[in-house]
Amino acid sequence: MKYIPIATPTLGKEELRLVTQCIKSTWVSSIGNFIDEFEQQFAKFIGTKYAISTANGTTALHMALMALGVEKGDEVIVPAFSFVASANAIVHAGATPVFIDIDPQTWNIDTTFIEQKITKKTKAIMAVHIYGYPADMEKICRIAQKYKLRIIEDAAEAHGASIKTMAGKWRNVGAWGDIGCFSFYGNKIITTGEGGMITTNSKQLAEKIKMLKNHGMSPKRKYYHPILGYNYRMTNLQAAVGVAQLKKIAVFLQKRDRIAQWYRQYLGSVDGIQLPLENTEIIHGVNWLFTIRITPAFKHSRDAVITQLKKNGIDSRPTFYPLPSLPMYQTHERFPQAHRAFATGLSLPSSVNLTKRDISYICTAIKKLTL
Ligand SMILES: *Cc1c(COP(=O)(O)O)cnc(C)c1O
Repeated sequence: MKYIPIATPTLGKEELRLVTQCIKSTWVSSIGNFIDEFEQQFAKFIGTKYAISTANGTTALHMALMALGVEKGDEVIVPAFSFVASANAIVHAGATPVFIDIDPQTWNIDTTFIEQKITKKTKAIMAVHIYGYPADMEKICRIAQKYKLRIIEDAAEAHGASIKTMAGKWRNVGAWGDIGCFSFYGNKIITTGEGGMITTNSKQLAEKIKMLKNHGMSPKRKYYHPILGYNYRMTNLQAAVGVAQLKKIAVFLQKRDRIAQWYRQYLGSVDGIQLPLENTEIIHGVNWLFTIRITPAFKHSRDAVITQLKKNGIDSRPTFYPLPSLPMYQTHERFPQAHRAFATGLSLPSSVNLTKRDISYICTAIKKLTL
């Protein structure tokens, strides 16, 4: 039987060629030309002065918080609906995540709730661009400025998403806050197997992060470690894959847009299926995992849809558990929109190599439930 996975990376001759080149050069560890090239090209792609490679997206978030001085006793505002790493990184930094419910349309942090959660201990806001749809950065920046808070963007799912500034220019996510964090895990927009990147315009933050990721070693004095550091480095091998992937990112994003269009075409008129938000004149999201909502009008539950897809050899994925529902973040507070997103959301196969026939096959399987 046909099997359609939820997300497979697209790797080709160029990745193989550069990895081979890397192995032949013997520069396989965390120093090498590919690291420098990947960082430079990524900074250019996002539009920031600096990009610093990291071992993965979670270490990027951890270092972003540490570089901004987030520490024990501090609070960091974060949406209640995200991948668990967003909150975990805050705890890794010694601080406390303060959860905020999400906007029912965008599934991103509901900015109308932020101010009431700010206390004397609040140090930063972590905005997450969930499933590739940008959070309201204009608003978040205004609040941060008013209360003198720092901003971290978790852009792990949103490479290439952008928002138009008041001045009418497009600015990529990851270039709005003090620091942007990206992931190159196998199912992300581009991959290095495992890997991450930090973007910033601040020289001082970039220098701090370079030390943190390299055992806290002074850039001027070898094996002198003035601060407590980590080994959070990416390898040249991973960066070789990254360089090849980044060259194709525009094509990947286009193909993802086309897959999303096909889903919209086949599912747009199905009662009870709600499609993800479309782009507007000022918001350009990218299509990471195409994630729909199964509302009561569909007459079948989200889990019934998962079972139906499975029967047809199609993989799908329920949306994230609300973070405050996980054992380590349990609170009495309620987050109704995060719960609704969790209970009704379903990510459909979104690999770049899917054809129109694949998408038609997937949507037909869903629609058969309604017959
Ligand atoms: C993937 C992801 C991360 C973590 O990235 P890793 O590279 O897997 O550590 C963090 N935040 C969000 C929103 C993600 O989707």
